[in-house]
Amino acid sequence: MAFFGAMQRLAEQLQQQGHQVYYYKLQDPANKQDFELQIQELIEQEGFTEVAYLYPDEYRLDEKLKAMADRLPVPVRAQDTEHFITGRYEVQHFFRNKKTYFLESFYRDMRKRYQVLMTGDGRPVGDKWNFDVQNRQKYDGAVPIPERLHFHHDLSDVYEAIQDAGVETMGRVADPSDFRMPLDREEAMQHFDHFLENALPAFGTYQDSLVQGEGKLFHALISFTMNSKIIDPLEVVQRAEAYWQAHQDEIDIAQIEGFIRQILGWREFVRGIYWAQMPEYETFNYFNHQRPLPDFYWTGDTHMNCLSEAINNSLDNAYAHHIQRLMVTGNFALIAGIHPDEVDHWYLGVYMDAIQWAEITNTRGMSQYADGGKLATKPYASSASYIQKMSNHCEHCYYDPKKKVGERACPFNSIFWHFMEQNRDKLQNNYRM
Ligand code: FAD
Ligand code: SF4
Repeated sequence: MAFFGAMQRLAEQLQQQGHQVYYYKLQDPANKQDFELQIQELIEQEGFTEVAYLYPDEYRLDEKLKAMADRLPVPVRAQDTEHFITGRYEVQHFFRNKKTYFLESFYRDMRKRYQVLMTGDGRPVGDKWNFDVQNRQKYDGAVPIPERLHFHHDLSDVYEAIQDAGVETMGRVADPSDFRMPLDREEAMQHFDHFLENALPAFGTYQDSLVQGEGKLFHALISFTMNSKIIDPLEVVQRAEAYWQAHQDEIDIAQIEGFIRQILGWREFVRGIYWAQMPEYETFNYFNHQRPLPDFYWTGDTHMNCLSEAINNSLDNAYAHHIQRLMVTGNFALIAGIHPDEVDHWYLGVYMDAIQWAEITNTRGMSQYADGGKLATKPYASSASYIQKMSNHCEHCYYDPKKKVGERACPFNSIFWHFMEQNRDKLQNNYRM
């Protein structure tokens, strides 16, 4: 819904600026539901002499467009997109001849290349590259969780078009006439500035926290606007750095470094791994997991409180923050031995920001370790202890996080130890385990 809403808005704005735009809505009878046929028809009708397109962000579509280029009767030109900081194959090049990818070396290189959080004489600001040890605290209520900026968009027509077209959907839409996320550049900038003023000062500190009833905490909520190319990642990084520079008395270096690492580092890094590893990446299943995803992933209906919170947040808001994705839903799927295809499909369907380059690397790679450690140095598998340490979910749960067996023992415990036992051979030589 969000992507359609943003596309529609862009088409309207371009038309208002006097551009000639052909925008085919989903239900438009002139919509041929096929890129190639549509473009062929336009060439014939309008007499266009060249086709140019921006590199798409998905391997399948990339292959389709390349094949189309060979068949069209006019020259076709493809152009890299400015909506990533690095080129598609820069990560591949950076790690050539290496078996695994290592974020830290790539991230430091990016800091130097783009002169982000650097002193004039080549040192990192604060004399450290990484302030993680100061971050990652459990939320203690010391800083109030800020209200977020909301917009009001009526996307009823988009919602109805999706229903009428019979598109298979998941999640819950409370009111399509009140869609609250930004849909154009001006709104996205306002939304981001609101984050800088209100949430950045505690972003890093509580980056890994989980809090009952709080699905957003201090996160930026900008993955959708960046992934849909409404705003530009380098602009986001530079604007955040400039804001921090002007407010250094209120925001410590650990907060801004933690935030910038997510975008200048992680986002570019996983996107580069995607293009380096596709299409093989889609087939990895290191632990040979075969189980289907439990039904409660589609309903949120489970006594396991942490899962219920993360899944209901996902189904209601098409959003969950990173730790809900990684250490709750992802962790459970990993230790329960769910087939990575099933896990991928769920993550690709449920989130507003889901696009395969980010989804599959994070899901199959970081979360399910199905690539055998190309992206992550160890599996993000844990018993109840992590969730108890980083959240207050266990205080509200039917299960007892301390119990491993017996009545009301937390299922995370026995399932975790079963996972470890089953995969002893594959894990025992991992230096981080
Ligand atoms: P913040 O926590 O505020 O971080 C700021 C930005 O940093 C994010 O918007 C994002 O652009 C970037 N970022 C941070 N971590 C990552 C990462 N690991 N990979 C890529 N970018 C990162 N992100 C997506 O954009 N699309 C997905 O489909 C997606 N699927 C995921 C699936 C799983 C299993 C996991 C564990 C993570 C996934 N992520 C995905 C990464 C991350 O969880 C989201 O980018 C983040 O939660 C979006 O919320 P935010 O904007 O509030 O992020
Ligand atoms: Fe989750 Fe177990 Fe804690 Fe319940 S007790 S919230 S299931 S970790």
